[in-house]
Amino acid sequence: MNLHEYQGKDILSSFGVRIQRGYVAKNANEAVAAAKQLTAETGTGWHVIKAQVHAGGRGKGGGVKLAKNLKEVEEIAGQIIGMQLVTPQTSAEGKKVHQVLVAEDVYYPGASETKEFYVSVLLNRGTGRNMIMYSTEGGMDIETVAEETPHLIFTEEINPATGILPFQARRVAFNLGLEGTAFKEMTKFVTNLYTAYVKSDASLFEINPVLKTSDDKIMAVDAKVTIDDNSLFRHKDYLDLRDLREESAIEVEAGALGLNYVDLEGNVGCMVNGAGLAMATMDLIKQAGGEPANFLDVGGTADAARVEAAFRIILKDPAVKAILINIFGGIVRCDRVAQGVIDAYKNMGTIEVPIIVRLQGTNADIAKKLIDDSGLDVMSATEFQEAADKVQAVLG
Ligand code: GDP
Ligand code: MN
Repeated sequence: MNLHEYQGKDILSSFGVRIQRGYVAKNANEAVAAAKQLTAETGTGWHVIKAQVHAGGRGKGGGVKLAKNLKEVEEIAGQIIGMQLVTPQTSAEGKKVHQVLVAEDVYYPGASETKEFYVSVLLNRGTGRNMIMYSTEGGMDIETVAEETPHLIFTEEINPATGILPFQARRVAFNLGLEGTAFKEMTKFVTNLYTAYVKSDASLFEINPVLKTSDDKIMAVDAKVTIDDNSLFRHKDYLDLRDLREESAIEVEAGALGLNYVDLEGNVGCMVNGAGLAMATMDLIKQAGGEPANFLDVGGTADAARVEAAFRIILKDPAVKAILINIFGGIVRCDRVAQGVIDAYKNMGTIEVPIIVRLQGTNADIAKKLIDDSGLDVMSATEFQEAADKVQAVLG
């Protein structure tokens, strides 16, 4: 589950990570009220207005702007809320902005130069350990840094049994070239950041930039936080943070029906039981020259109602030119699935795209006969390859 910047910052702050402070606003009036509140609390006269969408690179797309007085707060908030924000990380049509974060300006002049860093916490899948990835090159997109100046990216692997150790936090601060107060602040920052990551069951914390202010404070100016969905059962309070407007509409609908669905780019709709078989089916479609339009695991109980729900979801994607149903009848009997397919088909009236059904396992022969005798425009197959060949044939 991805969070908005302001939600991520709330979590960080609750673990003692210093953040650029702000309030979220849904319209220009709320933005002005938020700015006044911030001025009262922090003394700031300038504010940054930041579009809250699930995409990075907002600054480049005009979604992060500095306001030097309340009139500008009102104008800029009015302009950003409601806009279609296009950034290097969104599609060409962009994302609609429903709210902004009105934040204190933290790039104020002072005794020393401000400096931006990059700090993230994530899982190193190779070693199975969490690591802190950090760089002196903050504020830029990290893929570019990795390509052009990979020696400026550092990592610190954390032993899960001990958590982050003081010498590791000091090494981070040292490699970032800090000294004095800023050095101490950074050790505290990464230590609390790492603790927050572990305790919130996150799968990604990306803070870009982490700012050293002109008075040597270290704080999170941005926050990209992803919480591991599998942990949500023990973070009931995070469930409210989910913003369905930011997610794929088809995926949300499929989720509500209990279907495991991931939208993809291709033209062959897949309906499969079991994630492993679904992956293998996608491979086979590719080998046969097609491109899967989705990943869809209908789960163990592939009855008529579920099959119909799955059909409807798959057919919402206009790119789908064929549907491959690949079910292994282990717990569920193939003849029941076949009947489910037939009932669902009849219920739906006409389905414009060719359907290839491969049922294997318990009662596969009865199932094949049911499909073949149904009189419906559905092709049956017994072997995996045979099914793929039929898909290829209908795609031409
Ligand atoms: P992103 O573009 O989506 O990554 O959004 P960020 O939250 O990282 O903000 C983009 C850029 O806005 C930052 O890299 C900063 O340079 C700038 N910015 C953010 N906060 C402030 C601020 O308080 N004052 C000023 N002057 N610039 C800011
Ligand atoms: Mn950023």
